[in-house]
Order: sequence, then C-alpha cells, then structure tokens
Amino acid sequence: MSISVSHISKTYHQEKAISDISFTIKEGEIVGFLGPNGAGKSTMMKILTTYLPPNQGSAMVNTFDIIKNPLDVKRSVGYLPEHNPLYEELYVREYLSFNAKVYNIPANRIEEVITKTGLTNEASKKITQLSKGYQQRVGLACALLHDPKVLILDEPTTGLDPNQLVEIRSLIKALGKNKTVLLSTHIMQEVEAMCDRVIIINKGELVADRYLKDLIDTKEQIIEVEFDYRVEEAFLKRIPHVMRVINKHNFVYEITFDTSIDMRPKVFDFAHDNKLKILQLSRKNKNMESLFRELTQ
Ligand code: ADP
Ligand code: MG
Repeated sequence: MSISVSHISKTYHQEKAISDISFTIKEGEIVGFLGPNGAGKSTMMKILTTYLPPNQGSAMVNTFDIIKNPLDVKRSVGYLPEHNPLYEELYVREYLSFNAKVYNIPANRIEEVITKTGLTNEASKKITQLSKGYQQRVGLACALLHDPKVLILDEPTTGLDPNQLVEIRSLIKALGKNKTVLLSTHIMQEVEAMCDRVIIINKGELVADRYLKDLIDTKEQIIEVEFDYRVEEAFLKRIPHVMRVINKHNFVYEITFDTSIDMRPKVFDFAHDNKLKILQLSRKNKNMESLFRELTQ
C-alpha cells in the first residue's frame, strides 16, 4: 500500500473538519479526492503530509507512520499545497536550486525536473513573470525534486485557463505513470480526465470510494455533441442504437445510446455522411455525475 488511512478525525477548535475517514491507495494509482469547498480535502492532505496532526486515527505513507516517522513521510512524498507559496522574486532555476540545497538534493536533479515539467524555456525567467499555469509547473517541479514515490496535489488545476488546464492534466497523468498520485478537486470532470479512482468526501465524511471503470454504465452511454447548425432530433435518431435525443441549448444535443460500444466514431461518420459539421463532441459518464450530485447536495 502506498497510502493507508485509518479512522482519521480532525477538529479545528470545536468544529469537526474530518470525521472517521479510512481508505487505502495502492502503488501506481491516480486517485481523485473529490468534494465541494469546505469538505475537508486540504485538511486531509495536510495530515497525510504531516503538516497537521490528526485528533484521532493513524495513517501510513510509503510504509512510514505519519505520527512516528514524519521525516521519512516527508522524504517520500511530493506535496503541492493549495496556495503554493512561491518566492516570486526568484528565477525559476534559482528557486529550484534553493529548494534542492535546503533538502540536500544533488544539483543535476534540477535540470531533470525542469525538463520533466516542460519548464526549459522558462527556467531563466522570474517566477512573477510566469502565467498561473507555468507557476503551477514550478510548484510541481519543486514537489518532484526529491523523486518521491507519492504525489499529493491539492487542487492542482484551480485557477488555470482552459489551455493550461489541458496541459497540466496531461502532465499529471504522465507523472502518474510511475508514481502514486492523490489529487484533490471540487470539479467532477477533473476526476474523469485524470483518475483511475474517486474518493468523494462531503462535510468531512467519506461518502464514496469507487473505480471509474465500475461507474461506467455498461448498457447506456451519453454523447454530447455540438453542431454548427440546428439539426432535427428525429434526424439524429437515425444513428444506430439511439434511445433519446435532447436539444440542450442552441445547437448542443445530448444523445443517449443503448450500447456499451463507443459510439463517438459513429456520430462522426453520421455527421460526415450528412454534411453536418461537429464543433464539439464528448462522452459523458452519467453515473459519475449523478453520484456526485446525490452525495454532495
Ligand atoms: P476543502 O479543502 O475541502 O475545501 P478544508 O480542509 O480546507 O476543505 O476545510 C474543511 C473545514 O475545516 C472547513 O469548514 C473549514 O472552514 C475548516 N478549516 C480549515 N482550516 C481551518 C483552520 N485553520 N482553522 C479553523 N477551521 C479550519
Ligand atoms: Mg482545499
């Protein structure tokens, strides 16, 4: 087990932030820690990275006990805090070498993380000059310096524009190929884009822990498609396996199919054969959406 949490509770003053949470994460998994604002995600992450002690319960990270061996835990975890404090006046490479020195990390590692996080062209710039997306990469580079086995990322994509979002997501996915990743988010689609598994918390309690592959309904699938012009619902029903067509708004249609076969290529072919132009197309996980709404409302 990479992470194993057992009956953790945390109270701030009189107020309970985490109530009796337990879960385990296997090596190599990318797990989304999902919940609305105030659910307790950051609190749990601070506990797992030993920046905050729990009131009750215990946890192991990479076989180290968070209470008995906090230093060993810190050594094996890369942590990107929610409001990552960067020294904005420093240059990127300078900031990374400063951190490498503090933690006694060999200097050659600096160039490795710069390459890994796509910062080669930014390495000589001041952190203040970078966009939020690139500042986030610097935070990730810093978390990777000591080559930790486990990455704990607190809302790594919050505040990024759509392009940056796509880039950071694919960077995290790539990092997840040889590391265990626990990342928090309050946005369900983030989990679908990056994770193998989702742990949902609400008001400090764990309300769901599922593999995404188990959440995909095998008999129904929903595809949302946007055309450049109005299309009759009845016309779209000619695509094989269509159960329902809903015109959501403007030229956006939600098409429900009664098959588990990926229908996206069929929708493309249908559009092409009928000279319709597709502006956007995405497959939605109906169960994931309803689960999240049900559990957190
Ligand atoms: P999330 O990261 O899911 O948004 P947090 O872990 O930050 O949630 O917060 C969980 C709850 O604990 C919230 O009700 C929040 O107001 C409270 N809380 C968080 N940090 C503190 C603190 N330092 N002092 C008092 N209450 C806090
Ligand atoms: Mg938070």
